[in-house]
Amino acid sequence: MSQPLLEIENVTKVYGGGFLQRGPVTVALQDLSLTIQQEPAKIITVAGESGSGKTTLANLVLGFIKPTAGHIRYRGQEVAAMTPQELKQYRREVQAVFQDPYEVYNPFYRVKHVFDMAIRNFHLARSRQEAREMVEEALNVVGMRGEEVLEKYPHQLSGGQRQRIMVARAYLLKPRLIVADEPVSMVDASLRAMILDIMLRLRDEHGISFLYITHDLSTAYQIGDEIYLLYQGTVAERGDTVEVIDHPKHPYVQLLIDSIPVPDPTIRWGGRATTVDDEEMRVNVHSGCRFYPRCDQRMERCLQSIPPLYPVGPKGHEAACFLYEEPSQATPTTRSEEAVPAAD
Ligand code: ADP
Ligand code: MG
Repeated sequence: MSQPLLEIENVTKVYGGGFLQRGPVTVALQDLSLTIQQEPAKIITVAGESGSGKTTLANLVLGFIKPTAGHIRYRGQEVAAMTPQELKQYRREVQAVFQDPYEVYNPFYRVKHVFDMAIRNFHLARSRQEAREMVEEALNVVGMRGEEVLEKYPHQLSGGQRQRIMVARAYLLKPRLIVADEPVSMVDASLRAMILDIMLRLRDEHGISFLYITHDLSTAYQIGDEIYLLYQGTVAERGDTVEVIDHPKHPYVQLLIDSIPVPDPTIRWGGRATTVDDEEMRVNVHSGCRFYPRCDQRMERCLQSIPPLYPVGPKGHEAACFLYEEPSQATPTTRSEEAVPAAD
C-alpha cells in the first residue's frame, strides 16, 4: 500500500502550562491517531461536542499550531518540520474552509480579489484570459457564475454564497485535501444540502478528500465515509460512518445516538448526553477514561488507565472502552498515562 496522504500519529496538544505561564492547562487533544489514504478520495468526519478539540485538530493539520507530542505527516513528510518552500506547496495541496466565511474576506475588496490573490500567490495562470477561465470554472463547480459575484463586496453576498466562494477558491488550487471546519453550521438547510452535495462531487469527480469537522451527526451520516467521534480530545469511537451510527458501541456514543429521536433528520448533540458541564469535567478527570463521571456502565478499571481502541465490529469499527476488552487476549498497550508535556 502506498504512503498515506495524511497521517496523524499519537498527537497530543496542550494549551497553557508552559514556562512562566499561569492559568489553566487544557489538554485539547490526547493521543489522537487518524489516517487518510491517498486514494480513493474519502470524506473523513471528525465529530464532537463543542470543546472536544475539533478546531485544534484542524489548526494542527493546517500547520497553524504545532503538536505538543506526536507526529503529523503529509505524504510521509513531517508538517512541523517543513521549510517555508515546502509549507507553501503544502498550503496549496491542503486547503481550508472555515465555519464563518465572512471572517476570511477583506470587507474592502471585491470578491474577485480572493481569486486574484490565490492565482498570483501560486502562479496558477500565464495570462489574464487563462486566469478568468480558471475562476469561471471554479465558480461553476459550486453552481455560480462570475458575473453574479466577482464585482460584489463580501457584505453584498449571503452566508451561503460566501461559503460556496470559499469552496470555489479551494477548488481553484486543485488540492488533495480540504480541511472543512463546520462549513455548513452557519447556513440554512437548503444551502447546507447544496454545499454537502458539492463536497461529494469534489470527492467523486475531482478526487479531493475531506477532513470534515462537525458537531452535527446527521450531515456526517449523509456524506461521510469514515467517522471519528471525539470525547474531550480523545477518540471514543471510529469506523465506517453508517456502521458506527447504526451500531454505536461506546457508552458515550450510545447515549448520544439514543437521545436522538429517530427519524429526526437533524441529529444534534443534546438530551441526556450534555447535562454536565463539560469544561468542568475536563479539568476534574486526571486519570482513566474521561467519560467515567458520566458513564452508566463504568467499572473500577476505567479509573486506572485510558482505554485504548478495541475492535467492535466490521469495517474498522473500534471503540475506546474496557467493555470490549477480550479477557483471553493479552492486555493491549494502554495509552500513555504519563503527565502530558507542557505546551510550547
Ligand atoms: P472544538 O472546536 O471542538 O469546539 P477546540 O479545539 O476549539 O474545540 O477547543 C478544545 C479545548 O481547547 C477547549 O477546552 C478550548 O477551551 C481549549 N482551547 C482551544 N484553543 C485554545 C487556545 N488557543 N488557548 C487555550 N485553550 C484553548
Ligand atoms: Mg471548533
